[in-house]
Amino acid sequence: MNLARALVEMPLPGWLGWLQGRVVDRRDTTSCAAFVLGVWPILLLLWCLQWAPLLDDGVAALVQPGGAEVAQLGLTVLLLWLATMGWIGWHGRHDARPRPWLVRLTVLPGMLGLLLLCLGHGLKDNPTPMLLLYALVVSRALFVPRALAWTWGLSVALIVLSEVLQQLGALHDAPLLTQPMFVGSALHPWWALWVRLVFLTGLLPLSGVLFLLAAALHRQSLALEALARTDALTGLASRREFMAQLERESRRQARSGEPLSLVLFDVDHFKRINDTWGHPAGDAVLSRLGILLRQQTRERIDTAARYGGEEFVLLLPDTDLEGAQRVADKIAARLREEAFEVRGERFFVTQSVGIAQLVEGDAAWALRVADRNLYLAKEAGRNRIVGSLAFAEDVAIRSMSEP
Ligand code: GH3
Ligand code: MG
Ligand code: MG
Repeated sequence: MNLARALVEMPLPGWLGWLQGRVVDRRDTTSCAAFVLGVWPILLLLWCLQWAPLLDDGVAALVQPGGAEVAQLGLTVLLLWLATMGWIGWHGRHDARPRPWLVRLTVLPGMLGLLLLCLGHGLKDNPTPMLLLYALVVSRALFVPRALAWTWGLSVALIVLSEVLQQLGALHDAPLLTQPMFVGSALHPWWALWVRLVFLTGLLPLSGVLFLLAAALHRQSLALEALARTDALTGLASRREFMAQLERESRRQARSGEPLSLVLFDVDHFKRINDTWGHPAGDAVLSRLGILLRQQTRERIDTAARYGGEEFVLLLPDTDLEGAQRVADKIAARLREEAFEVRGERFFVTQSVGIAQLVEGDAAWALRVADRNLYLAKEAGRNRIVGSLAFAEDVAIRSMSEP
């Protein structure tokens, strides 16, 4: 396993793992709590920075009279409001019901409050857009776009309005300040510090969230891959996984010359079983057969797969025709002895088996020969095994076993 893969698959420490889980399950309550967790520290930092113009006359001169007080009051209310919403979300974390009102009451004020503060400081000559981008990515990761429609619509409207007012000369670039931060001369020392802090505050969590999203995406795709590789009813490999294994093993067989065998199973008169005993009984037969196939094959060496509805297949590396026949005999005998019970009545099940030993790595031909042998077993009266070497020119049956 390479380092990048190991890093992505590494279990995340407590709260990071929890946050990643929220990205995946998108439950309104926990997503709101996670949104508050993600945005609150940024607003708190802005709240701390906002004390400077209130406490220092030099910095106060950089801000419109009364602006710092209004901004600080607004930020304080917003922090308390979001904390309440986050608490409500956390409190209802076990409830999966949709809570559109909670989402709206959390994301709308959170995003618009941040946007107003950023617009007040100017969007064009400092790193405030990074904060907005971070909040945007966090909200998009936690909520479906429909839940964010109002927030996005109002945010765009606010930005457009501020731009129009600036173009009309009714507002300058940074309405909260006495003049924009960059005016061509050296940056005021306070702004130099402010810009650096805000830049890092936006950049670091934004990078963190992008990594988290990439890791969540990778985990999701691994989980989906595992699902696609497995048959839901029997837990055996799926047909897709079997075909991939067959391709790999047949190439190996062509190189090494070691024997490789294919065994196809098809339950006899399965339709009749379903019709007589019901579909759940049919499913129980398939599950049981899945267990038998797993039990009678070598873990990590053989592949046991569900090939179709009531058809199963085994891929047996380093196993010749006789070996494959022994395995098939054992499984067929076990299934034959198995008594299935429905409403106190017992019934028994048999299967027909077609075996082919691969020659020169020709997997497609071996599959056809195994299928033909299975058909021959059905023709010969079912409940039997037919096997042969998969030579293109040699289609003679080499072995046949009957119960
Ligand atoms: P044969 O002996 O010739 O193989 O006859 P058969 O009835 O077994 O063969 P056929 O292919 O006609 O019927 C297969 C049946 O398997 C039809 C389908 O309804 C049933 N089947 C397919 N998948 C499932 C499943 O997942 N569960 C159940 N219970 N039945 C299934
Ligand atoms: Mg069939
Ligand atoms: Mg059948």
